[in-house]
Amino acid sequence: MKSYYQLCVLIALVVSGYTSPIPPPADTDQESIAVSYLTQLYGLPKQTSSSTETRSSSISLRLKEMQQFFKLKVTGKLDDETLEVMKKPRCGVPDVAAYSTFQGDYKWKKHDLTYRIENYTPDLSKAEVDDSIKRALQVWADVTPLTFTRIYSGTADIMISFAVGDHRDGYPFDGPDGFLAHAFPPFEGIGGDAHFDDDETFVYKSPQGYNLFLVAAHEFGHSLGLEHSQDPGALMYPTYVYRDMNTFVLPKDDVDGIQSLYGPNTDISRPKPTPPVTPNKCDPNLVLDAVTMLRGEIMFFKAGFFWRSYPLSASVEQHLITSFWPEIPDHIDAAFESLLEDKVFIIKGEKVWALYGYDMVQGYPRSLSMFNLPKKVNKISAVLYDETSYKILFFVDNQVYSYNEEKRKVEKGYPKPVDKVFSGMTGKVTAAFQYKGFNYLFSGSKMFEFGAHNNKLLRVLNNNYFLPC
Ligand SMILES: [Zn+2]
Ligand SMILES: [Zn+2]
Repeated sequence: MKSYYQLCVLIALVVSGYTSPIPPPADTDQESIAVSYLTQLYGLPKQTSSSTETRSSSISLRLKEMQQFFKLKVTGKLDDETLEVMKKPRCGVPDVAAYSTFQGDYKWKKHDLTYRIENYTPDLSKAEVDDSIKRALQVWADVTPLTFTRIYSGTADIMISFAVGDHRDGYPFDGPDGFLAHAFPPFEGIGGDAHFDDDETFVYKSPQGYNLFLVAAHEFGHSLGLEHSQDPGALMYPTYVYRDMNTFVLPKDDVDGIQSLYGPNTDISRPKPTPPVTPNKCDPNLVLDAVTMLRGEIMFFKAGFFWRSYPLSASVEQHLITSFWPEIPDHIDAAFESLLEDKVFIIKGEKVWALYGYDMVQGYPRSLSMFNLPKKVNKISAVLYDETSYKILFFVDNQVYSYNEEKRKVEKGYPKPVDKVFSGMTGKVTAAFQYKGFNYLFSGSKMFEFGAHNNKLLRVLNNNYFLPC
């Protein structure tokens, strides 16, 4: 599988004069979006005279590969989840499995590289473009022995340009959204070069539009020899995800990838921030931040990520929180779905955000005081929503408050110690949810199963019971 992918990347990227007569995807035609996507990124041959049957099995095969790459349910069919991923803005370089590097010799033989900015986008000032590019290269220089020197004339190793539509390298851009940029792996000529689609709106620091620093840092990973990663937390993941450039630290997956090519940066005078690691659902010590239902799916939150589980299928997807909701912070405290309001509430500190389906609800974040808890309560440990009574249990350290959602107030007799309500629950509850007539309380890396009607402790399970490895 891997060598197949690499082969098609090589064919796609190396053969000069290769032209791609694929029209940009028509927004209204889902089938044509899929065919265009699979042709450009998964090596689907262009329409030939082959029979309809051969053609559709060929499309289905590529769909399966794409679904596998993005860890979607592998159906070989163009379902909603698959189409959702295809419509996301992304890099135009084809996908391959796992963090990996271009086959064979696709790395620079020298450590001191040059770059040249050939032209500018009108979206930003020249100083902003220069700074975005410089910082994006520095991301890689920080963790390797590589250095990047800017030149102003002649041919640099990494030639950087902004272009629209067909720009004579066989990989036409596609107008706003879709493909944002692409770059070529290290080799002579066009190798190492990075092209940015100037039909996009690039921004310098704002969360709206496409952050040039983030797009460039990703492309320069290709310029240095990295391919796409399947790790949803990696910079080399193919789809664009907003991150705050001021706090950006190159994730562990990317550090491992680039160091496998060039080794680490041995300059000990530079401070080295710890690269963020994508949480692993198979980690036996995993402690979840929050768990909630969302219209039949179960959402498990950890640090800057969440897993999304569909009870009817075995597949579990992992995403960066910011890839769905840029406004919601990392390390949330609690989350629950209110059936009365048909919303999911997400709590961190004294702020509350609301989702309607997958959409952010306007007018949030609101203050935690919206739940009329005592003023001293300024941090929630977990929330459990009881679907049968519309009661919300707020866990605050070792106390629990029962809140009547219809009357909008805390019930008499509360707070109570957690182990008075849930006998046997002695540790701090860090996450909770109700599912199919059972209450699940998480404490540390364990999950406690209680009957929802009598709160009787039934089982103590590992917290990956719903997140199979
Ligand atoms: Zn890419
Ligand atoms: Zn190009």
